[in-house]
Amino acid sequence: RLEIHAISRRFDGRDVVTDVSLQVAPGQVTCLLGPSGCGKSTTLRIVAGVDRQSSGNISVEGRVVSDDRIHMPPEHRGIGLMFQDFALFPHLSVAQNVAFGLDGGYRANRKRVEELLERVDLSEFLDTYPHQLSGGEQQRVALARALAPRPAIMLMDEPFSGLDNRLRDDIRDRTLELLKEENTSVLLVTHEPDEAMRMADEIALMRAGRVVQRGAPYHIYNNPVDRAAAGFFSDIN
Ligand code: ATP
Ligand code: MG
Repeated sequence: RLEIHAISRRFDGRDVVTDVSLQVAPGQVTCLLGPSGCGKSTTLRIVAGVDRQSSGNISVEGRVVSDDRIHMPPEHRGIGLMFQDFALFPHLSVAQNVAFGLDGGYRANRKRVEELLERVDLSEFLDTYPHQLSGGEQQRVALARALAPRPAIMLMDEPFSGLDNRLRDDIRDRTLELLKEENTSVLLVTHEPDEAMRMADEIALMRAGRVVQRGAPYHIYNNPVDRAAAGFFSDIN
């Protein structure tokens, strides 16, 4: 379980994130949805621990990972990351990439690595290097790598951007299935309403640094909080 309590972030006197509170229940997917520049990635970076809030606090599985005094480094937070620039390590094979965050590397974690690669349908690419893979295949390796250490929480920032429509739908479905199987709690950032409708158990709609509405996807779709929210959803097909 992830709990974000009243976090704000200012950059050079400008409020970019204001009083954002969110919870992600165990095994649930919460989508942070909103237009470009509204503060989604900033929020995610703060939760990851690569940036720090100006005020507010964050806990993971009931343990405070960041507040006014504590600032736990990203690798100690029990959080997996899959960001827009999900770059794999070019000098490591697929199997070594997936094993990167595991003690003892691939040799000590053969079973876990092979099981994950099978789940993302890349079993035959164990010894392949990233430059020999398509973008979609690389994305699936990145997903397997992020899940390998069994993080309680997964943060995903536009993880499916840059894929063509058909491939994106397929990878979204696989990803969701795998995340549910591993009972991972997910905070997923997207600016695409249809992606949020498809993936989310709960949507948090963000605008100009604030969460303006939260609820189940169809609740928000059918009961937008204001005209801007309605407009944002209007071009879904
Ligand atoms: P997008 O959908 O385009 O990725 P976003 O919602 O993820 O947008 P953020 O990346 O969180 O938006 O940026 C929100 C605002 O904060 C932007 O106006 C951005 O310029 C500003 N910002 C982000 N990081 C910094 C920084 N390190 N210093 C100053 N301003 C920043
Ligand atoms: Mg962003």
